[in-house]
Amino acid sequence: MSDAYCPGCGKPLPPGAAYCVHCGRSFRDQAADDRDATGGIIPYKNSSALIAYYCGVFAVIPCFPIGLAGLVLGIKGLRHAKEHPASKGQVHSWIGIVVGGLFGLVWLVVTGMMAFAMLSS
Ligand SMILES: [Zn+2]
Repeated sequence: MSDAYCPGCGKPLPPGAAYCVHCGRSFRDQAADDRDATGGIIPYKNSSALIAYYCGVFAVIPCFPIGLAGLVLGIKGLRHAKEHPASKGQVHSWIGIVVGGLFGLVWLVVTGMMAFAMLSS
C-alpha cells in the first residue's frame, strides 16, 4: 500500500494520508470501503451484481420480465463476488435475486392470469 494515488487528481500520496496534499480531497471513507469487502457502495468490478441490482430496482415496474434477468444476474454476481472478494457486490446481488426474483415472479403470475382470463372469456 506504499504506492497510493489520489482518486481525485491522480497524484502520488504519502503512505497513510487521510487527505490529498495536492487537491485537498479527503479519502478516509474510501480507505474504509477498501478494507470492508461487503461495505462497497457500488461494485464497479462486479458488473453482474450491478446489473442485477438495477434489474431488481426496475423489476417493480410491471410489463417487463426484467426481474427474472435480475435473479439470474444476481446469482452470477454472487458467484463472482465469492471468487473475487475484492470486487464486492454481494449486497447488490442479493437485491437482484430477492427483489428481481420476487417481482419477476409476481408479474409472471399476473401476466399468466391475465392471459388465462382473456382466453377463458
Ligand atoms: Zn488529489
